Amino acid sequence: MQIEYRSKEEIDLIRVSSLLVGKTIAEVAKHLRDGITTGELDKIAEDFIRSHEAVPAFKGYHGFSGSLCISVNAEVVHGIPGARVLHLGDIVSLDCGVVKNGYYGDSAYTFAIGEVDQQAIKLLQVTRECLYLGIEKAVAGNRMGDVSSNIQKHAEANGFGVVRELVGHGIGKKLHEKPEVPNYGKAGQGLLLKPGLVIAIEPMINMGTKNVKQLNDGWTIVTADQKPAAHFEHTIAVDNVKAEILSSFEEIEKSEKENLNLYKIDYKQHIIA
Ligand code: MG
Ligand code: MG
Repeated sequence: MQIEYRSKEEIDLIRVSSLLVGKTIAEVAKHLRDGITTGELDKIAEDFIRSHEAVPAFKGYHGFSGSLCISVNAEVVHGIPGARVLHLGDIVSLDCGVVKNGYYGDSAYTFAIGEVDQQAIKLLQVTRECLYLGIEKAVAGNRMGDVSSNIQKHAEANGFGVVRELVGHGIGKKLHEKPEVPNYGKAGQGLLLKPGLVIAIEPMINMGTKNVKQLNDGWTIVTADQKPAAHFEHTIAVDNVKAEILSSFEEIEKSEKENLNLYKIDYKQHIIA
């Protein structure tokens, strides 16, 4: 399949889906606490998405059973919701996709339940910063390698590992489209970015080494060294002056602030200028 460039009208539809993803993660985040199961959280997400005349994009995707990917601690991505109970000290990534009006949105956010150690806080801060550093480079005239290398440099400068096996992606009429959006690479190389390219940028950053493996469930990706990983994702549209962020963390941050079970991490506010 060719790389698709989206019209203004299509970008508006992708924004509708992407904003619903943010609202869904925000709704689930209200319920994050010691003792809840990932299966209960998944049910909340599915009900919320369907009540907004949309369909969970992950459910049934290559046979995936959940509406969310919920990845805890050493799980990097693609954790399957189920009987797992969350505990104080866990860091939990919620990754969500929806399709509405034929267009997809995709976003992810990582939360800390209760007290977590300083290195875990730093991992979340740096991973989120990596996301925005990638978005800053997602401007027409730059190349994909500018996005990728900006993410990689920041993660590695902080001593963290950048996952190679999984990457961001084009998104629009399918959940995963061309091009790939790696979180590692060389500035000035790769695809020339043009207005209308819609991509999900999603750094997956490990506290330890970059190495990962897949569990026998056929889905869950875990760090090889069992150290924690974090994951933040936005769906964005490349444009001339700056990228347009189509998903939003605004309501997620509100839930994070108001849910007393969650650790309040001091994040830099990023303005893409
Ligand atoms: Mg995602
Ligand atoms: Mg994605």
